[in-house]
Amino acid sequence: MQRRILAPGALAAASVLLAIPASAASFSPGAPGIGDPYYPAYGNGGYDVSHYDLRLKYQPATDELEGTATILATTTQDLSRFDLDFLLDVSEVRVDGVKAAFAASGEHELQITPKKALPKGAAITVVVRYRGVPSSKQAYGFTSWHRTPDGGVGANEPESAWWWFPSNDHPLDKATYDVSVQVPDGTQALSNGTLQSTSSRAGWTRYNWRSNKPQATYLATLAVGRFDITTGTTESGIPVVNAYSRDLGDNAGAARASIERTGEIADWLSGYFGPYPFDALGGYVPNTTTGYALETQTRPYYSPRQFAGGSNTSVVVHELAHQWYGDFVSVAGWKDIWLNEGFARYAQWLWSEHEDEGTAQELADYVYASHPADDAFWTVKPGDPGPENQFDIAVYDRGALAVQALRNEIGDDAFFTVLKGWPRQHAYGNAAVADFRQYAEQVSGKRLDALFDTWLFQPAKPGAPAARSASIARPAAAPVAPRSWKKIAATNDVHEH
Ligand SMILES: [Zn+2]
Repeated sequence: MQRRILAPGALAAASVLLAIPASAASFSPGAPGIGDPYYPAYGNGGYDVSHYDLRLKYQPATDELEGTATILATTTQDLSRFDLDFLLDVSEVRVDGVKAAFAASGEHELQITPKKALPKGAAITVVVRYRGVPSSKQAYGFTSWHRTPDGGVGANEPESAWWWFPSNDHPLDKATYDVSVQVPDGTQALSNGTLQSTSSRAGWTRYNWRSNKPQATYLATLAVGRFDITTGTTESGIPVVNAYSRDLGDNAGAARASIERTGEIADWLSGYFGPYPFDALGGYVPNTTTGYALETQTRPYYSPRQFAGGSNTSVVVHELAHQWYGDFVSVAGWKDIWLNEGFARYAQWLWSEHEDEGTAQELADYVYASHPADDAFWTVKPGDPGPENQFDIAVYDRGALAVQALRNEIGDDAFFTVLKGWPRQHAYGNAAVADFRQYAEQVSGKRLDALFDTWLFQPAKPGAPAARSASIARPAAAPVAPRSWKKIAATNDVHEH
């Protein structure tokens, strides 16, 4: 309302308006969720974040994290109150420099009431001071914070930020990041992007990381521990920083033999997906016990278990493929997960072909033949799997099968044009499955609604195989797995709750 009083032509009426108590009718609380039907409480309404500045101090011995988050945002409605998603203990919140009231609410909401209501379109600065022991906090009965013998790691999907920084936790609200972490000397702190500088003082070392391209909250990562760090540069000139826990034991060699090929693999993927969209690259393997890997932006997280069977470049291909399909272009809603997993899996199929371990068509034939029509596998709809099946194996394998079906339908020329053109269509943004279908229709000149419906949205085994190969025309009694199969099947970046 104040803005209107100051508008040209309204000055004459100002004294009259000021005599009337300012109406708060249009100022209302931001929604406690951003509107994702899979996770109604995830993210928040009423503002859009552009930048997170996180200044942290972490003590590995006790898992104590202390921090100040400075969040730059713009309001998208007249706001009387708004939420951040967060679990640690908050001691102070300031909005535009002024102390604000705050309270914990729901499973993971931090409800903030600024002293003065915030008009729509205002650039605001929110400072949150906090501390806590991340491993002691749960929401919905789980934790995404991984304690390790030498530190801790924040990496999970679809949520991990709650345990280490307050945020608008949904892929729709991407932002840039500066993450500055102080840890005891001899310990390293890793995050996304580029290490800008380090400094040491009184037994503590500070690591300053910058991720300067829009990044979804679940793709932000923090890892503290004792790491061996390797650096290099890809053929295309991207700096690479990889990190390996010093306690990987028998898996150390296989992990390095896989992740040290990150630059080569990213360059290979750029032949299919277009130029690598970020200016930093790498991977890290802390001594966690999870079974999954995750496409944390510019620097994927790998569990040591991914390398228990020997080197596994396939999992590196998967997580790096996500840098285009998942990170550069992120889901508009979590129901669009096929745009991430179907394509990251398909990239593994292309790599299998590249490594002469079975073609994409052979892998498609194998997946199709190895699940009989009454297998529950076919009841999962990759195009809208539901939150309970968001990371079901079918989203990956049937998802990649759908990609192969598209390839067979529109032919290699159009298919590879789509594969490379799509990331640029929504660069650093978000998109839905329907957007992808429309783009594939535009490139190929074909109507694809029936194909998409069959492969992504029907809870049944498609009657006709995606394959047009001879092996499907005469179905084998016992389908033979391509040589790459075992490693591909071991690569599911599923969350653990
Ligand atoms: Zn994945």
